[in-house]
Amino acid sequence: MSKKRKYDESYVKYGFCCMKESDDVEKPQCFLCGKVLANASMKPAKLIEHLKSLHPENASKDLEFFTKKKAQFSKSGTLTKLGFGIPQKPLVEASFRVAYRIAKSKKLHTIGETLIKPCALEMVELVCGLEQRKKLVAIPLSNDVIQSRIVEISCI
Ligand SMILES: [Zn+2]
Repeated sequence: MSKKRKYDESYVKYGFCCMKESDDVEKPQCFLCGKVLANASMKPAKLIEHLKSLHPENASKDLEFFTKKKAQFSKSGTLTKLGFGIPQKPLVEASFRVAYRIAKSKKLHTIGETLIKPCALEMVELVCGLEQRKKLVAIPLSNDVIQSRIVEISCI
């Protein structure tokens, strides 16, 4: 295993907060667009590159601006946060579909994280490889998430 990079609080001034996945690897997440970068990109040069190329209008803003943006981002709730950036949308969609199937089969909500996700990860890793598995890790399937999805679906 290669050495994993760690998040540093000073990265806020580049527009990045920290996202941790179940495998405990920290990843930089842009709180301006919601995009999550690879752990290997957890260094100022890469973060600045994202900021300057995707958010040039914010590149020269001060720390106060970024701190405010970060607070807004983390306050906006799991659902809106996940639907925030375009790259994350399929994850939200996947999460909704699984919740729908769980509700339809009248199974416990917990099977999302105790059975469905581990199975899916194992299958993807074996069939498609480790890289593809990493994508699936980010699908939100915790008990709470499934529960709130089901509530949301049943309200439609
Ligand atoms: Zn961004």
